[in-house]
Amino acid sequence: MTQQWDAGRLDSDLEGVGFDTLAVRAGQHRTPESEHSDPLFFTSSYVFRTAADAAATFAGDMPGNVYSRYTNPTVHSFEERIAALEGGEQAVATSTGMSAILATVMSLCSAGDHVLVSKSVFGSTISLFEKYFKRFGVQVDYVPLAELSGWDAAIKPNTKLLFVESPSNPLAELVDIAALAEIAHAKGAMLVVDNCFCTPALQQPLRMGADVVVHSATKFIDGQGRAMGGVVVGRREQMKEVVGFLRTAGPSLSPFNAWLFLKGLETLNIRMRAHCQSALELAQWLEQQDGIEKVHYAGLESHPQHDLAKRQQKAFGAVVSFEVKGGKDGAWRFIDATRLISITANLGDTKTTITHPSTTSHGRLSPQEREAAGIRDSLIRVAVGLEDVADLKADLARGLAAL
Ligand SMILES: *Cc1c(COP(=O)(O)O)cnc(C)c1O
Repeated sequence: MTQQWDAGRLDSDLEGVGFDTLAVRAGQHRTPESEHSDPLFFTSSYVFRTAADAAATFAGDMPGNVYSRYTNPTVHSFEERIAALEGGEQAVATSTGMSAILATVMSLCSAGDHVLVSKSVFGSTISLFEKYFKRFGVQVDYVPLAELSGWDAAIKPNTKLLFVESPSNPLAELVDIAALAEIAHAKGAMLVVDNCFCTPALQQPLRMGADVVVHSATKFIDGQGRAMGGVVVGRREQMKEVVGFLRTAGPSLSPFNAWLFLKGLETLNIRMRAHCQSALELAQWLEQQDGIEKVHYAGLESHPQHDLAKRQQKAFGAVVSFEVKGGKDGAWRFIDATRLISITANLGDTKTTITHPSTTSHGRLSPQEREAAGIRDSLIRVAVGLEDVADLKADLARGLAAL
């Protein structure tokens, strides 16, 4: 029935292979069934041959799985594959992107520590720091993303973490990750980068000096808008703490979702290339249209950080934001006139999506806070999918005609 596969042949030696080979092969441990595709282990617990083996495994004296809140082989394959792609020593998978951020801060910070967060991070990330971590004695301050001197000046003796997303959502601002890592390390702090928008296909923050990378795997890693998940990647010593938190607190990744993400990673690079190529084409086209006041996309020469983006990223990402004439009414008319593009806030899907940030993702901010964050009522965000770019252009042209 079963045969032992030849351990010399496959993933036993992936030293020195390229990104696309790792994306397809890293982290697979073939079972005696000789399966070619990654197996899906749908089990809550694991059995032992004897009571003594159970005792030794529980005590950590014997390797082996105990319970899927702690370890699961499918989840572990996903962790190994994403760690290989990010260039990290170890990865820990979580149930969502938010629980990746929760697990990172819970395991690396204590009451009395200070954290610096970029002003332009994901809305739920701000809420997590503001409403919850603060209640447990973590001090939090917010800093504009792009300006390095502002970060340097805001670091205090008890600053433990700097937390950024680059490029930012929805305005595509960047920070020089290598320079910010140096600033953090000079003062004994760690740099955490939410790499959701770029994925390791476009940028690998750990290789630029960042200490920890977090992801919402819900976005481009899944890539087809099906499943929620997250992951934390970093050095073994830190990931040990993250694993400890996760085993105890419980936001572990479902093996089914891990299996989807393994499949997602196999095509990550070619998908990201296609997303970015269409996004650049649409951004360049939008910039020339009457009715468009400004396009925010780091691939455009008009973007103030275009040179940094070229240096730091392999391509410029899938998210294009633009301001239309006519304020909120214009933006809503534009959105309502599209027929193909989905009106939904998700991104990283094969299907292109369109949103009005000032009344959705940023709707809870006061008008002054929105103004400070540059989220105008005339702003529209498009997360470019994988449809024919000509069809996307035709749909956006319906929006333009409605202005
Ligand atoms: C979506 C998102 C998150 C949160 O991820 P979930 O999987 O929805 O919990 C965090 N950061 C960024 C940049 C995101 O886009």
